[in-house]
Amino acid sequence: MFKASLRSHLTLWFAGLSLLTLMSVGFYVGHIATEQMKQASGNALLSTAKSAAELLGAQLRERQLEVSLLSRAPLFKRGNLDDPDILTSMELRTQSRAEYAWMGVADADGRVRQAVNGLLVNQSVKERPWFQAGLRSDYTGDPHEAVLLAKLLPGNPGGEPLRFIDFAAPIRNTKGEVVGVLGAHAHWSWVTRIVDAAVLQKGTPDVEALIVDHDGKVLYPEQLAGEQLPNLPGTSQKPGAGPGWSVGHGYLTSAVAVPTPSSAGLTWYIAVRQPLDIALQPARILFYKLLALGVLAAVIFGLVAYYLALYLSRPIEQLARAAKQVREQQPDVVFPVHHSVREIAQLVQSIQGMTQSLLGKERELQDANASLEATVAQRTAALTQANADLLKLAIHDGLTGVFNRRRFDEKLAECSLLFQRTGRPFALLFIDVDHFKRINDTYGHAIGDEVLKHLARLIQGSTRATDFVARYGGEEFAVLLPEIEEPESPDVVAEKVRAAIAGASFATVGRVTVSIGVGLAELSDSNTSALIKRADQQLYQAKGAGRNRVCSTA
Ligand code: GH3
Ligand code: MG
Ligand code: MG
Repeated sequence: MFKASLRSHLTLWFAGLSLLTLMSVGFYVGHIATEQMKQASGNALLSTAKSAAELLGAQLRERQLEVSLLSRAPLFKRGNLDDPDILTSMELRTQSRAEYAWMGVADADGRVRQAVNGLLVNQSVKERPWFQAGLRSDYTGDPHEAVLLAKLLPGNPGGEPLRFIDFAAPIRNTKGEVVGVLGAHAHWSWVTRIVDAAVLQKGTPDVEALIVDHDGKVLYPEQLAGEQLPNLPGTSQKPGAGPGWSVGHGYLTSAVAVPTPSSAGLTWYIAVRQPLDIALQPARILFYKLLALGVLAAVIFGLVAYYLALYLSRPIEQLARAAKQVREQQPDVVFPVHHSVREIAQLVQSIQGMTQSLLGKERELQDANASLEATVAQRTAALTQANADLLKLAIHDGLTGVFNRRRFDEKLAECSLLFQRTGRPFALLFIDVDHFKRINDTYGHAIGDEVLKHLARLIQGSTRATDFVARYGGEEFAVLLPEIEEPESPDVVAEKVRAAIAGASFATVGRVTVSIGVGLAELSDSNTSALIKRADQQLYQAKGAGRNRVCSTA
C-alpha cells in the first residue's frame, strides 16, 4: 500500500483545514454581507423612493392648490368666464410655471371660453374626465395623451403625441353655483423629471425610477409603459424582503405611494429599483476577496506545514536510515542526536542507546559462543583422552601396566583359534613369585606392589614385543608366546625371564625369585583350560622342586 510521507500528510491537512475554515468563514461572511447589503440597499432604495414620492406629492399638491386657489379668486367668482382679466391671470400663471402646457376655463356646458394662447377656445371638453370631475371638486388625473393639444402646442412641430396630467377645479359664483371648470394640463415630462431628479440626487448607481399606477401598471418610463410591476409593497411580498422593499426578477425594488390630495382621483407609486447584481456587488467582491484570502492562506499554511513537517520528519528519516545501516551492519552509523523537539531527541537517544546495548549484547554473545566452542573442544579432547584411558584401563592392569586378566583370556582364545586354524603352536608361561607373602609381611604391601611393578618390567624386557605379557592375578604373571620356532624355545624364554629376575636387585627387598611353568598348546586341546592346567601343573612342579626354576611339558 502506498504510504504518503509525514510531509505530505501535514501539508495536505494544514492546507485543507485552513482552506475549509476560510471558505466556511467566506461563505458565512459572504452570506451575512449579502443579507446586510440587501437590507442596506433596500433601505436606501426605500428612502430614495420615499423622498421622490414626497417631492412629487408636494409638487402635485402645489399645482392642485394653485389651480384650486385660482378658481376661487374673486375674479372667477364674479361668474364672467369671458373676463379678459381671467386670461391675464392664467397667462401669468403659465408664464411663471413652464410645466403648464395649457390652462383655460370651460363653462358649465364644457365649452372652452378662454385659454392661454387661445388654444382649444370654443372647443368642447365636455367628455373629458378632468372637466367632468372638475365640475364636482378639485381633480388631479392620470397621465393621458392629448393628440389635439399636442398638435397645437408650439415647439412640437411634428405633433408628436404628448402626455399630460390634468388639474381641474370647479368655478363657483358668489351664490355657490358651479359656472365652469378651471383646467390645467401639465407636461407629463415635468412629473418624470421631478422623479428622475429626486432619484438621481441620491447618487445610487444604476437605479431606475418608475411611476406605477394603482394597478401596478408602469406609467413611466415610456419603454416599460403598460407593463405590470410585481411585488408592490402592500401587495404580494416575497419572503426575505424587508419592510418597504422586495426582491424579484433580478431587481431589488422599493415602491412608495405618492401622497396625493385626498380629493385627487389618482394613486401612484414611485418604484425605485436596482439590479440585484449591482446592489450586491460589494458583498460579492467581499466574498471573492475572502475566497482569494482563503486560497492564499491555504498556500501559506501548506508551506508552513511542509517546512514544519520537514523539520520534524528529517530526524525520523535519518533515524530510519541509521537503523537500516545498523541492520546491514555498516560501520560508523550516525544518529541525529540534536533536535530541539524534546520527544524526537529522546526517541533518537533511546534508539541509539538501544542499538548500542544490542550491539554490546551481540558482542557478548559472540564472545560467549567463542568461549563455549573452546570449552567444547577442551571437553572433547578430555573425553577422547578419558576414552583412551578407559580403553587402556579396560585391557591393562592398573598396578603393573601389563595386560590384565580379561585381556589375557581374550588373547588366549585368539591364539587358540589361530592355532586350531593354522596349526602353528604357541606356548603359555605361568610365572609365580616365590614366597611373596614374606615380602609383604616383611616390608609392607606398598613395597610388595613396587616389587610387582619391577617384575612386570623385567618380564617385558626379557620377552619380544610380539609376546603377550599379562598379570594373571595376585603375584602371578602369564606370558603367551605366539610364535615358536623350535619346541624348546618357550623354555629358553622362560629361563631368560627367570634368570633376569633372579639376577636383578629389587629396591628395599634385594633379591626376588620366581618359579615358571611352561605349557605348550596341543591340537588335541578341546579348550583353553587344558593348556592353562598344563602350565599350572608345571608351575606346581617348579615350586615343588625348590622354586626359582622352570618346569616345562616340552
Ligand atoms: P610360594 O612360594 O609357595 O608361592 O609362597 P607364596 O608366599 O608366594 O604363596 P602365597 O600364595 O601363599 O602368597 C601369595 C601372597 O601374595 C599372598 C598375598 O598377600 C600376596 N599378594 C597377592 N596379590 C598381591 C598384590 O597385588 N600386592 C601385594 N603386595 N601382595 C599381593
Ligand atoms: Mg601364588
Ligand atoms: Mg608365590
